[in-house]
Amino acid sequence: KQHEHPLHCHYQPSMMTTSIEQTRLTADLKRAIDNHEFEVYYQPIIDLHHNKACGAEALVRWHSPTRGLVPPNDFIPLAEDSGMIIEIGHQILHQACMQTYDQIQKGHWPTDFLLHVNLSVCQLLQTGFLAQLETVLAETKLPAKNLTLEVTESRLVTQPLLTTQILKEIQSLGIHIAIDDFGTGYSSLAYLNQLPFNSLKIDRSFINQMMVTENYSAIVTAVISIAHNFQADTVAEGVETAEQATKLKQLGCRYAQGFYYAQPKPMSEWSTETVNKSGKTHQLAEYQA
Ligand code: C2E
Ligand code: MG
Ligand code: MG
Ligand code: MG
Repeated sequence: KQHEHPLHCHYQPSMMTTSIEQTRLTADLKRAIDNHEFEVYYQPIIDLHHNKACGAEALVRWHSPTRGLVPPNDFIPLAEDSGMIIEIGHQILHQACMQTYDQIQKGHWPTDFLLHVNLSVCQLLQTGFLAQLETVLAETKLPAKNLTLEVTESRLVTQPLLTTQILKEIQSLGIHIAIDDFGTGYSSLAYLNQLPFNSLKIDRSFINQMMVTENYSAIVTAVISIAHNFQADTVAEGVETAEQATKLKQLGCRYAQGFYYAQPKPMSEWSTETVNKSGKTHQLAEYQA
C-alpha cells in the first residue's frame, strides 16, 4: 500500500473486480504522478459588482502520452478510490500556488487575486495535511489570503465532525473555504450551521434551470439569502447566458463563473491574452454585463 491515510480512501471490496481498463488507468496514473503529467487550467471568477475577473478556479487536466488530454471526471474518481488523489492533489496545489504567485509578482494579477483550488475530502483527512498546506504556502510564497479551498458538499457528510474540525484549522491559517456544488448534497441546515465556510458555490444545475423553472429561481434566492446570513459570499457556477448573469445580479449573487465569461484555459493562454489586450500594463479582462 502506497498510502497510509485513514478512513475511507481505501480500496472498496467492490473494486476487487476491477476491469482491465481500471487496472490500466491505475498504472497510467501512477506513471503520471512520477512524470508530473498534470497541468492546471484556470477559469476566471467574475465579480458581478464590476464585471471583472477577480480570481480563478484551478481545474486539473491530465496530459497522458497515450490517452491525450484527459478531463478530471475521467480520473479523479479512481484517484480518490485508490488514494492517489493525495499525491495528485499535492502536485496541483503546488503548481496552482506557484503560478499564481508568479502572476501576482509580474503584475499580471492583482495582489488580492482569489485562487480557488479543489480539495478532495481524502486529502483533507490525510494525516499531516495541515503541515503540508503550510509547507506549500511557504515554498510557493503565496499568501494564505489569496487561497480558497473548495470542498464538495456531498463528500463532507461522510465524516462531519472531523471535516468540520480540519476546515476550522485550515481557516485559522488564513485560507478561505468554499462549499462546492452546494445544494446537491445531503447536508442539513443544522450541519451547515456547524460548518466553517466563506462562500457557497451554487451548483450549475440550479443556474441551468433557473430561467426555466420558477422553483429553481426560488432555490437560488434562498441559497443567496442563507449565505448572506452566514456572512458568506455566493459564487454561481456554470453561467452560460447573458440572461442568467443578469438574473443573478438582480438576485444579489456576488460572483459568477461559466462558459458565458470564459472556458478554463492553461496559464500560457492567460499570459498572451493579457499581453494582447492591454499591451504593457497587464490587467484582468473585463466582461460584458
Ligand atoms: P467543479 O469543481 O464543480 O468545477 C466546475 C466544472 O464545471 C469544471 O469542469 C468546469 O470546466 C465546468 N464548467 C465551468 N463553467 C461551465 C459552464 O458554463 N457550463 C458547463 N457545462 N460546465 C462548466 P471540469 O474542469 O471538467 O472539472 C470537473 C470536476 O472535477 C470539478 O467540478 C471538480 O469536482 C473536479 N476537479 C477538477 N479539478 C480538480 C482538482 O484539481 N482536484 C480535485 N480533487 N478535483 C478536481
Ligand atoms: Mg470546484
Ligand atoms: Mg462545482
Ligand atoms: Mg461540480
